[in-house]
Amino acid sequence: MILPIYVYGQPVLRKVAEDITPDYPNLKELIANMFETMVHADGVGLAAPQIGLPIRVVTITLDPLSEDYPEFKDFNKAYINPHILEVAGEEVSMEEGCLSLPGIHETVKRGDKIRVKYMDENFVEHEEVVEGYLARVMQHEFDHLDGKMFIDHISALRKQMIKGKLNTMLKGKARSSYKMKQVK
Ligand SMILES: [Zn+2]
Repeated sequence: MILPIYVYGQPVLRKVAEDITPDYPNLKELIANMFETMVHADGVGLAAPQIGLPIRVVTITLDPLSEDYPEFKDFNKAYINPHILEVAGEEVSMEEGCLSLPGIHETVKRGDKIRVKYMDENFVEHEEVVEGYLARVMQHEFDHLDGKMFIDHISALRKQMIKGKLNTMLKGKARSSYKMKQVK
């Protein structure tokens, strides 16, 4: 089932999300719905707060990039209770967008290498060192679980430049190709 995506201005996007336990109701169905919603909206990542739930669940697909990066073929993963333990590596600038910020694309500087811990869908714990594009997507998505969005990482000047677009969202007048839940 495709769910509406919560847009900038929705308070849930600014909450610190909670870890969940294996008895969380209908988790498999939730994850399936998140994948469907993400793919339908042409996203590569989706965090549960973006569908209105303040819990630490994220889906990531890198399959759409597999034409250029064959190693990403069929990369579809759900991350439960992820936490970034360390950000390291070279600082790299790359343009980012977000399904909760339709029409905004800005360059964000992030470390190229991270150490993360998370559980998979079966609540098996993993700790990994991740580099490159996946490290970028993980930082963007896991930020959502701490109430952060990528525009928090841009300069005051750039923020001023996108103020008009943000205000449009706060007025509930943003447009996109997918279903959204705006504040008004
Ligand atoms: Zn996002």
